Order: sequence, then C-alpha cells, then structure tokens
Amino acid sequence: MIGDEGKPVPVTEWTLRYEGYVPREEGLREALCTTGNGYFATRGAAPESAADGTHYPGTYIAGCYNQLRTEITGRTVENESLVNAPNWLRLTFAADDGPWLDLGELEVLQHQLELDLRRGVLTRKLRIRDGQGRITRAVCRRFVHMGAAHLAALEMTIVPENWSGRLRIRSELDGTVENTGVPRYRGLNSRHLVPVEARSLAAAAMLLVVETSQSHIRIAEASRSRLFRNGRRVEENPAVISEPGRIGHELAISVAPEDEVTIEKTVAIATSRDHAVSDAAGAAADWLETAGSFDEMLGQHVLAWSHLWARFPIDLRGSEDDQVLPVLRLHIFHLLQTVSPNSMDCDVGVPARGLHGEAYRGHIFWDDLFVFPVLNLRIPELSRSLKGYRYRRLPAARRAAAEAGHKGAMYPWQSGSDGTEQSALLHLNPKSGRWLPDTTYLQRHVGLAIAYAAWHYYQATGDLEFLAQQGAEMILEIARFFASIAAYDRDRDRYMIRGVVGPDEFHTSYPDGPDAGIDNNAYTNVMTAWLLLRAIEVLDLLPEHRRTELTEKLHVTVTELQLWDHLSRRIFVPFHAGGIISQFEGYDDLKELDWEAYRAKYGDISRLDRILEAENDSPNRYKISKQADVLMLFYLLSAEELTELFRHLGYPWDSRCIPETIEYYLARTSNGSTLSALVHAWVLARANRDHAVELFAEALRSDVADLQGGTTAEGIHLAAMVGTVDVLQRCFAGVELRDDVLWLNPFWPKSLGTLEFSILYRDHLITLSIADHTVRVSSGPGGHLPVRVGCQGRLRELDPGQSLTFSL
Ligand code: BGC
Repeated sequence: MIGDEGKPVPVTEWTLRYEGYVPREEGLREALCTTGNGYFATRGAAPESAADGTHYPGTYIAGCYNQLRTEITGRTVENESLVNAPNWLRLTFAADDGPWLDLGELEVLQHQLELDLRRGVLTRKLRIRDGQGRITRAVCRRFVHMGAAHLAALEMTIVPENWSGRLRIRSELDGTVENTGVPRYRGLNSRHLVPVEARSLAAAAMLLVVETSQSHIRIAEASRSRLFRNGRRVEENPAVISEPGRIGHELAISVAPEDEVTIEKTVAIATSRDHAVSDAAGAAADWLETAGSFDEMLGQHVLAWSHLWARFPIDLRGSEDDQVLPVLRLHIFHLLQTVSPNSMDCDVGVPARGLHGEAYRGHIFWDDLFVFPVLNLRIPELSRSLKGYRYRRLPAARRAAAEAGHKGAMYPWQSGSDGTEQSALLHLNPKSGRWLPDTTYLQRHVGLAIAYAAWHYYQATGDLEFLAQQGAEMILEIARFFASIAAYDRDRDRYMIRGVVGPDEFHTSYPDGPDAGIDNNAYTNVMTAWLLLRAIEVLDLLPEHRRTELTEKLHVTVTELQLWDHLSRRIFVPFHAGGIISQFEGYDDLKELDWEAYRAKYGDISRLDRILEAENDSPNRYKISKQADVLMLFYLLSAEELTELFRHLGYPWDSRCIPETIEYYLARTSNGSTLSALVHAWVLARANRDHAVELFAEALRSDVADLQGGTTAEGIHLAAMVGTVDVLQRCFAGVELRDDVLWLNPFWPKSLGTLEFSILYRDHLITLSIADHTVRVSSGPGGHLPVRVGCQGRLRELDPGQSLTFSL
C-alpha cells in the first residue's frame, strides 16, 4: 500500500513506525501516534515540545467542552470546542548548563517512533549530538492507561554516551496551552483555561488545577517523578518552578559515560465532570497515590488491551496486499482509544476526528453512523452507552424543533456539550481568505442517522430494553419531526421536504436563491419514508405496557400513525429522465463542470467548494458533489429493501438502475470527504468488485497516507477508519442483520485472501470465515438459544457449539 512520496505506508503487523526526524511530518505522526483510553487521549508529540508550528502536543478529555466568543467581520460568533487540556507530557533534559533538548538545534543521529498497536505503547528512540560533541541517547516509552481511565505514564531512559557531568531533567504540567491546533481557526479566541492552583505535593509530586472559562469544568492533573541511576532509585529533591497555570520540577544528577538514568513520570487526571468525584484536585492526587510503578501499570494496561483485542479478532490470510490487515488494526486501535469501556457512563458521543486533534472542534456529527455497526457486534454495551449521549439530548432536540416551528426532535448537525446546534455560523475559506456564512447546519439528515443507528443496534442485539427505554422514544420523536417538515403539494399529491442540505455539503442553495438549502434531497426523503415505517413498527415491538406509556407520554395518536403511514407512501423523490434518482429537485438543471479543466488547473480539486468560491463562483451552480449523497441510499439499504421502499412509495424504480446511478454520481463527485471512498467502495462491491477493492484501498490510506494532504494532522477521520472494518464485515463479507436472521451475502474479493473474524450476535460469539467460494459460520459453546443464519436465500439454524458451511 503506497503512502506519502511513493513510500509504503509505515505499518507492519502490529506496529506503526516512523524513522528520522522530519519536521513537516510531525503533525501527521502526532495524530497517528496518539495514545488514549476513551476517557482522554494525548497526541504523539515529543515530550519536550510545545506548540510551535512543528509540534502540537494536545491532550483531550472526552466530553470536556468550553465556549468562547470572537468578533469576526463585525459579528460576534460563539464557538464550542473540545478543550486542549494541560500538557502533562512535558519532560526534557539538558547536559550541564547547556540548552534544553530541541531537535531543531541539534544534530539528530537517530530518531524513531514506534507505536505498538497490540499493547498501546508509544516508544521513541533518540540519539543526538550537541554543538560541543556530546552524544546522548534516550528511549522514551509511554501509554495512556486502558485499564485505569485516569492514569498515564511516561518513562525516559537517558544515556550520556561520551560525556560526564550534570544531567538536568525538567518535568512540567503546563496549563498555559490554548486551542491553536488548526490554522483555519486561529482568528478565533483560543484560551479556554483559567489557572486555579499549582503546587508541589509530597514525594516529588505536583498538582495543577485549571478551570474552563465558560463551562467551569475543573481539570486537575497530578504528576510524580521517580529517578533511577543504573536501576537504583535516587532521591529526587526537585527544585520547583512555578508560574500561573504552570508548574515544574527540576532535578539534577551527576552522570558518567554510559550511565543509565531513568525517570518515571506518572500522571493522574480528574475533572469535575467525573462521576464519584467531589473535588477534582483531591481525586487526581488520590489516583496518583494508588498508581503503582511504571511496569506494574504497564502490565495492567496491556491486559486491558488484550481483553479489547479479544473482542476484535480479525485475520486476513493470503491477501495480495499484506498491509491491509495492519492498517485495519490501526483503525480499530484508534477507535478504541476514542471510545472504549472507559467512555461508558461519561455521557460522551463519538467525535468525528477522534480525541486526536482540534479539527471540527471535537464535535459530533452523523459520523457515528459509520462507527456503530462495528461496535454493535463487538462491544454492544459501549454502543448502547454512547446512544445515551443522544437520548439525554432529546429535550434539547425537542426544544430546537419547537423553536423552529416544528414538532418532534430536531437534532443538531454538530453537537457538543448540551445538544444545542454547534455548527459555526461563519467559516474561513483558506483559498480566498474570506469568512463566509455557513448553512451546512441545515443537514437535518443527522436525525435520520441517529434513528437508523438506534434501529440497527436493536437489530444486532435484540436489546428490547434499550428500545423500550430510549430507542423507541428517539425514533418516534425524530419521525415526528420529519413528518412535520414534510409539506403537502396538492398538484403533485406528494409531500415535499424543503430547505435542507444533503450529505453533499456543496449545495446549500439554488444558484440565484437565498442561502437556505435545497428542496427534496432524495437521500433525506427516502430515508424519511424508511424511518416512518420503522416508527410504526417500533411501537408494535414494544411490550404493551411500555407502548401505552410512551404513546400517552408523547401523545402519539392513531391519526398521527395514519398520517405517518400515508406520508411513507407519498413522499416525493426526484428523478432525472432515464430513471436516475436526482440528488435534489432541480439538480438536473445545473451546469456540468469541466472536470478536466479544473484538474489541469488545480491538481487536487477535492475541495471544489473552496476553489469555486475563490474564483467568485459557487458550487451551487454545478452538478458536483463533495461526497456520496444519493449513493448513501445504497450504502444504508440493501437493493431488496430499497426496491420494496420505492414500491411502497409508488415509484417504478428498478434496482437494475443501480450501476448506472453509481457511475453517474461517481463521475460528478470530488471526494472532498474521506467518507466518499468508503461509501463508493461499498456500493461498487456488487457491480464492479475490482474498482471496489481499489476504493477500499484508498479508504484504508485516508489517514495513514494523509490523502487529504494535511487534514489528518488536525485529527483522524474516525468514520472513514472504522468504516473500512465495516466494509469488510457487512459489505464484502455480506453480514446483514434483518428480520431476526443473520444473513450472509458475500461479494468477497478474491484478492483479499481468506477473512476470519468474530462477532457477538444475540449472545452467540460467532466466528465467520469467508473465502472465494465458501462461508463457514461457527458459534462458540454455551446454553443460549439457537439463531437463524441465511446465505444467499438458504436458511439454517445455528446452535451453540455448532458450525455451518455454505458454498457460494
Ligand atoms: C463531511 C461530513 C462529516 C464531517 C465530519 C465533513 O467534511 O462532509 O459528512 O460528517 O466532515 O467528519
């Protein structure tokens, strides 16, 4: 698999490895070498570094948001961001009275970063020579504890190779950091942290407390240093350096050539958002006190990772590209660092860019749609807990709908702390330098994704209690919202949904109209019909007492259900002449873009919106898409489901148009989102498997090869990462959960060899093995009820401990 500048991507087996010190690549490496545990994560930045244009050592605590106001072009805008928490990494050294470690000023003889994906440990090896010829080498290992959410540890062993004297070491907790990780946002205020307290604790330990300026979340970090020379503990006696928002300890030790000096830095983080915590500072100090040595913690951390990996067994044998499996592991690894069992009960969602950087300000979009199918079948309890984030924000979504004059629940396109809309009102086009109004918040389809995810979680788990407690209420209220924005058009005898933006964010208005969305986005309308049917079905599934409670509480009447049924048959869907589903009404009247001319002029044209705006033109005038929009329908619904839905809607749609529809939109999509290659790989799997495999490889390379030329440094693209695992399981391997049957309809590409993976389905741990001509399904032993498994129309029962083989 080819990465940057024609080099292979830097993953093998269970390792991501970078050689050499390349300042312009630091940002990318930092994002991809992030270590985290679902409660917090820290970028893989050099411990001695500060934000300086090359390095960006960010730490992000899940759910820790703060709002700031900024004046831009005469308007006051308010932005909520996932806060960059105090930098706990800071650890540096110096020889005698020489300067502190700075790779930019030294001769770098060796620099290697190695991320061990199985164990979640980042190792950095460094060998440097200073201006006086002193050679020093250092090895630094660090991890964010997967088994104890509040702890992290860093161990550095420093060896003076050819000098003796005084080795100085400085360890700090730095709360003067700001949110400056994304150049485009630098015009916005970025100082979220207010210093509260900084002091030394007993035994070479220190404490830093800060508070976010608007949300008033206290963040406490406590750290302790232990010093060893040649394996023997040395008394630390640190000198204290302190200034507002920052505290440090400086240690000095005399060394001779080849002495090994090791410093262990252990850190505990707590916030006032945590459960069972009355005082963040006290909690951090307590966590620190109970933390064992580096090696003891490491043992527990590795054990926790081994338990997580046991939920995600995946193997590809005989694949033509031996990097596919390691990249998939990298993607699973970053998923579990963003959300893990440590995230449960933390009231957090799935941030689009992980806990790995500041792009999109840590907001939560519809991207969890691409993440849940993988979690549902492996850690369903985590999936359920993450859905709680949306359920708790149902009142905010109801309020938003009511304020806009609608019924039900209108979820925000970008969500942060409290479920209100957090989309920016203005955004900067870096190509033109202009701040522009941003109406992409009109992506009402986010609600459809939330309902779809709730429904599919139930399909995967059979968890009726979730449906009864939370899922049904969200599905009903979202359905009610879409029914309320659908307006009846007498001439057409159909319902219209006007003034929205589809998944393709390029079209936010008609060419000469006000910036207020487009009408009848096919994806939104078809999924609304799907949702209204599910809303009716969900009521039938509930136990009678709960159905009564819910219909009474929400005032769902028979008349309303009849309206939903009627709407589900009469929503308008636009088509082009020739049977192609139109992305929205009027799309067909737009101009064709001269793609070749734009490619020749600009090279990378993925962000055509920025290019056109900088030319004083607008994407609204052209038949162009940023990412899959109509094609999302083929991604979310099988050809059979879609055929049935169009029949229900009274449209003579034929699934034989799918290949032509795919070709039509592929030719008009600039792929300005990493979600594009993923969805396109999926929808092509049936019609053009070779092309699908090429796009799958592109989706695999999205982050590890930084295909968008710099965006990964600002945070991983979590949906694209996790989506690649889902393409394997639900698309190529064809796992489909429908009508209480585990269906297997593989479109398995021979070039990928043999896939073996396991899923949890209705209490069965099911191992699937998919090769060119056969599918083998085995269930682990146990006393649970049999499940039904179907393959290409053949239906069989699978008992615990039994295996079935289907030939294709
Ligand atoms: C995409 C959205 C996505 C968001 C966050 C945007 O570039 O267009 O579909 O939700 O990124 O990942």
